[in-house]
Amino acid sequence: RQEQYLKLRDVPAVTKDGVAVNLQLNAGLLVDLPHLAETGASGVGLFRTELQFMIAERMPSASEQQALYSAVFAAAEERPVTFRTLDIGGDKILPYMQAVEEENPALGWRAIRIGLDRPGLLRAQVRALLKAAGGRPLKIMFPMVATCDEFVRARSLVERERAHLSHHGHPLPSDLKLGVMLEVPSLLFQLKEICALADFVSIGSNDLMQFLFAIDRENRRVADRFDPLSAPMLRALKMVADEALASGCQATICGEIGGRPLEAMALIGLGFRSLSMSPAAIGPVKAMLLELHAGGVADLIAQELEHAGGGETLRPKLLRFAESH
Ligand code: PEP
Ligand code: MG
Repeated sequence: RQEQYLKLRDVPAVTKDGVAVNLQLNAGLLVDLPHLAETGASGVGLFRTELQFMIAERMPSASEQQALYSAVFAAAEERPVTFRTLDIGGDKILPYMQAVEEENPALGWRAIRIGLDRPGLLRAQVRALLKAAGGRPLKIMFPMVATCDEFVRARSLVERERAHLSHHGHPLPSDLKLGVMLEVPSLLFQLKEICALADFVSIGSNDLMQFLFAIDRENRRVADRFDPLSAPMLRALKMVADEALASGCQATICGEIGGRPLEAMALIGLGFRSLSMSPAAIGPVKAMLLELHAGGVADLIAQELEHAGGGETLRPKLLRFAESH
């Protein structure tokens, strides 16, 4: 199997009916970067910067952060990398940071909330990213954004850093794109506005599932109770795909569902053309794409979503479609 996937490495990810799909990797450490060449992925769609912080014994200094980002740029060569700013708090604890006692850490002080409340931390990271990019294009996205206002505040912090570096004669990124993770359901109800503001959106389906269905993603007892292929989740995803298309804002899926072939098939049917996943998932997803008739699955999903009654799952029908094609 593994060898079969290896053979697909340089085969373009295009469906039978000619739909090209951008397949990227999720990464978090420098050791993940060689997977780019091994899998033929087109770039890093999600670089989880908190990993460096989580494995360190103390807060990484600004120059340590910059050194990692420079090394990531060098290892990615010409391929694009989307860096996500620190996504700490919740289940991602830094041993050296004073723990805050919270009843519900997943709903607590985390990710961009910390970044906006402690701008020194976010500013240092953004500066490290801007410096590491040098003259190359840079993509940054912010985790757990719940309102447009949070994005605007994060963006102005980046703009201030860029102006500061420019003032001091540092080379700036040749192109700077700022995006937003869509993983808090409140953003679903600000889609038009956020798509107008952000250069791209990236759906964190792991957290979006958690918050849409109110199920702790780490709690096995409840985590698998609801299906990402059920009508409510597919409708939520469809809202994003439709708005992205209408507004010309790029949309990617970087949660686990993008790396599962059946789910990935459904995502293509919904209109997504960019997926970011774990390295091991690239081969199986590409193999699926090469056999897929995207128009067929799009028709099936549109029909089913129109008629799906309640919270029912489309999984059996999608599976049947996959098997018969
Ligand atoms: C997600 O929530 O789907 C995601 C990609 O981010 P993480 O798993 O790191 O929370
Ligand atoms: Mg997340």
